[in-house]
Amino acid sequence: MEMIEKAVDARDACESARADGLDVGFVPTMGYLHDGHLSLLRKAREEADFVVASIFVNPLQFGDGEDLDAYPRDGVNDSFQAEAEGVDLLFTPAVEEMYPDGYPPPMTIDPGPDGDRFEGASRSGHFRGVLTVVTRLVDLVGHSRAYFGEKDAQQLFLVRRMANELAIPVEIVSCPTVREADGLAMSSRNAYLSPPEREAAVCLFRALSAARDLYADGERNSARIQDEMSRQIGAEPLATIDYSAVVDPATFDLADPAPDPALALVAARIGRTRLIDNLPLPPGV
Ligand code: AMP
Repeated sequence: MEMIEKAVDARDACESARADGLDVGFVPTMGYLHDGHLSLLRKAREEADFVVASIFVNPLQFGDGEDLDAYPRDGVNDSFQAEAEGVDLLFTPAVEEMYPDGYPPPMTIDPGPDGDRFEGASRSGHFRGVLTVVTRLVDLVGHSRAYFGEKDAQQLFLVRRMANELAIPVEIVSCPTVREADGLAMSSRNAYLSPPEREAAVCLFRALSAARDLYADGERNSARIQDEMSRQIGAEPLATIDYSAVVDPATFDLADPAPDPALALVAARIGRTRLIDNLPLPPGV
């Protein structure tokens, strides 16, 4: 596995792989790799000839007072894991490489009004930061398939739309959410949870499971599904709900009655740790 820190070198390596006739697969991450990330790397390894992963904790997608400084990092373990998954090129740029005209960058990508809902409403500027860094990364990597997790459903929705609208030569591939045995979605932020908080955190999946069961029983009143999700999270003393919602996955609009398929979303704070999760209704669509 080749490790590269410079943007120009990453661009050259991807160009020369393509010149050799190799298909490039790209997995952007913020590191502290877990099985969710590894599932993306495995899919890329299956589908592409040359697998590129990036590790960059993008300051632009963190708001003031968020966990940028505390965000867990373990570059040594990440590079072992990436190598074990057969990654060909691990790109680990510094902030100056990603934002060469200075930080904060003078030009950013506007996600439009859909970037101000749900996650964007709670994390102002978050999706501007995400779309800006994804644009820069896929510009360096060039023509490729890029793998994103359904865990971050709104991010996936906006990245897909951006790739489409800006005609970026990248095919966005979505990968299902990988969960712990009790249902908690894997996340680098789970490392913040104390043992009691870790137990409490399963309330997000409990809420989504309740939504799944109501939907399976024929419930299409989104307000009722949403109330039940909020009730499940509200029943957990260590949890504070941020939002629960039923949206149309094609538009990310709130939808009542619940369409087929629909997407149930939840966000909550467990102690000081903010977690998000979602589940397609019916599951597996
Ligand atoms: P992050 O390092 O959190 O920015 O995540 C990098 C990529 O991994 C994103 O496309 C995430 O959606 C994806 N990802 C994170 N957690 C999971 C998970 N539990 N299952 C599947 N994909 C995930």
